[in-house]
Amino acid sequence: MSGQNSSVKTTAELQIIPRAEHNISRKDISKNALKVLYRLKDAGYDAYLVGGGVRDLLLGLKPKDFDIVTNATPEQIKKCFSNCRLIGRRFRLAHIVFGREIIEVATFRGHHEADADSPHKSDDGQLLRDNVYGDIDEDAERRDFSANSLYYDIKDFSIRDYWGGVAAIANREIALIGDPETRYREDPVRMLRAVRFAQKLDMQITPRTAKPIYKLAPLLQNIPKARLFEECLKLFLAGKGLDTYKSLIEFGLFQQIFPNLTESVKSENAAYQLMCIALRNTDTRINNELRVTPAFLFAAFLWHEMEQACEHYQAQGMPAQDALHTAASAVLDGGQYNVTIPKRFSTTIRDIWALQPRLEKRAGKRCLKLLEHPKFRAAYDFLLLRAEIAQGEQAAELNSIASWWTELQQSDAGKQTNLVNELSNNSEKRPRRRRNNNRRPYNKKRRSNSTQADSNE
Ligand code: ATP
Ligand code: MG
Repeated sequence: MSGQNSSVKTTAELQIIPRAEHNISRKDISKNALKVLYRLKDAGYDAYLVGGGVRDLLLGLKPKDFDIVTNATPEQIKKCFSNCRLIGRRFRLAHIVFGREIIEVATFRGHHEADADSPHKSDDGQLLRDNVYGDIDEDAERRDFSANSLYYDIKDFSIRDYWGGVAAIANREIALIGDPETRYREDPVRMLRAVRFAQKLDMQITPRTAKPIYKLAPLLQNIPKARLFEECLKLFLAGKGLDTYKSLIEFGLFQQIFPNLTESVKSENAAYQLMCIALRNTDTRINNELRVTPAFLFAAFLWHEMEQACEHYQAQGMPAQDALHTAASAVLDGGQYNVTIPKRFSTTIRDIWALQPRLEKRAGKRCLKLLEHPKFRAAYDFLLLRAEIAQGEQAAELNSIASWWTELQQSDAGKQTNLVNELSNNSEKRPRRRRNNNRRPYNKKRRSNSTQADSNE
């Protein structure tokens, strides 16, 4: 964490940085964002690029998106653009739609008057409403970090800096505007954002901004689970997932999102190791511009819990496959963690889990069919991770199975048939695993059929 001479200001003090003194060039701003800025200016309004767009350009990075603020009301904005959609009920925002790119335009937000009849804060200090229009000074004050509170003025290409944001960026500091405890109470997600920006931008959270997090982390319990899921995607799928995860653990924030994993992260057990390598794997894929699915990560986060539940159901006499499905439902739907995993991802998580025993078993010719399963690749990658953290005898077994699947994928049709045949020849010599004793008669039958079919090949 950075030293005492932090750049953070305790009161607003406007500094205007003229174009000649900063590096933001219009050629680095999206054409569509520029169109919106100019159109608003030409209609007589103030219009600024704000937030992450300005911050990232100052850092020489490519912004994820470009947000704009203006003194025009949403209705006035709508009149300027035929491609404008107004969204949000509480605080209306304008989306200007250019094919796949959407430029978000907001009206300056202001402060609420103290109103005892209709308080805008909860007992915990959380903002319940944030729907008052204001001017640029107020808008700057209600933003989270000084580095996120910079305004690029389309009139003269200068930057307006009220809270020492330019200095914070130069010093690589993440510093909350205002009293940190109050600001975290207003919106506890700011604690996650502090960690996210520090990791993503390789910056330090100032001691003053870091200190209250340890105490206030439990306030994340008040955040809707769907919002926390969205935050998790930003935290873990931005290419710095592993470092972010470790920092979240250090601040006690991860444990609030996944209370069921608290013991694992404390003891750094196998579940923790699996999370680490799943995040490392995801980071590598993102940094190589390969596709990733959050389902893979969540499958890793919750795998050991599912496995334990599965063993529990099997010990009660449930057949292996049923036990796995029951355990998956118990873990995914059991509400043990504070995010809502949308159905489209939980279905994939189930698939990844359900394919693990099938990959391990390598049931003869059916292996070739398995290669065509839409989630085969994710399940295979997952098996590789499990092999990597396995120990002793299990490590040897999983690694040999994983290598076999690697070879199968890399082989032509003839070699694939040989590999599968060798397998069934070997399995005839191999004693059956005890786990199969739990299987239902119809499973036994199917298994013996397939073995026969395989040996007929
Ligand atoms: P990135 O898009 O790279 O993740 P960003 O800073 O643009 O980073 P957004 O979530 O897109 O983050 O938000 C845009 C801006 O809105 C921020 O820069 C900040 O000024 C403001 N903002 C967003 N969330 C909050 C919040 N919870 N509290 C206060 N201000 C916020
Ligand atoms: Mg943004």
